[in-house]
Amino acid sequence: MRVLAFTIDLDRDCNTAVRGETAAASRSCGVMTAPCHDASSQGMELLADMLRSMAFPATVFSEGDSLRSLPEPSLLRGLEPACHGMEHEDLTGESTGIMLEDDQLADIIARSWDAVVSTTGAVPRGFRAPYLNIDPRVLGLVREQGFSYDSSMTEEVVNGALKPHFLPQGLWEFPLARDTDADGKVIDSYLWAMHEGRRPESDYIRMIDRFQEGVLVMATHSWHVMESVRGGAKDSRQTSAELDAISRMLGHAQDSGFELLTLSAAEDLLNAGR
Ligand SMILES: [Zn+2]
Repeated sequence: MRVLAFTIDLDRDCNTAVRGETAAASRSCGVMTAPCHDASSQGMELLADMLRSMAFPATVFSEGDSLRSLPEPSLLRGLEPACHGMEHEDLTGESTGIMLEDDQLADIIARSWDAVVSTTGAVPRGFRAPYLNIDPRVLGLVREQGFSYDSSMTEEVVNGALKPHFLPQGLWEFPLARDTDADGKVIDSYLWAMHEGRRPESDYIRMIDRFQEGVLVMATHSWHVMESVRGGAKDSRQTSAELDAISRMLGHAQDSGFELLTLSAAEDLLNAGR
């Protein structure tokens, strides 16, 4: 299989972990104040419109709070809803220094699931850990909740291939991709560097061209087309340029013979033995 799965993390604006706090803050609002979701909601609306207009599928990993902050849940129609915590919690304690108990983790995962069900009416199948902080204990609890796949790991593309694999916890893992660029430097399939002005679109087009076998999971944040960590709010011209760049990347993949799928559709193919 040669699949590209585009994914969006719908989470609080410019989120950041705070030592000693379970919930994430928004850098753009000041870490001592309540998180904000405006850029996340506006970016989600623009991304969803762009994806629908091009008939591109996508999976949206939603933080429960951000999902409930959307002005209208129907913004996500046609996209696959999946989970990304409730308040963008650091589930492993790596970034906050807080080691949560099993029952606390299970509660966060369950509330995240409930937020998707109650807001979209769909039963989520996929999970992505906030900050991509995942470990075997969290994966076990994710499976216990009823999820069938995870997409929190980052793994290297080897000889043009990166394949989903089945984890001991009973979940499919769809890792994000790590490759090297034309200068031999590491490039990840998360579009963070592009949105921060540190990588051109062409680096990702090259990454797509080098990918021959498996599922290339690309990712972005909904807020990142509206603001950046380094530069703050973006003007409408910049936002449009970044949306266009994403559209061209997906169009390029499609023209190059990739199947564009949601992760749940890719999971269906795997379960069918493809
Ligand atoms: Zn996130």
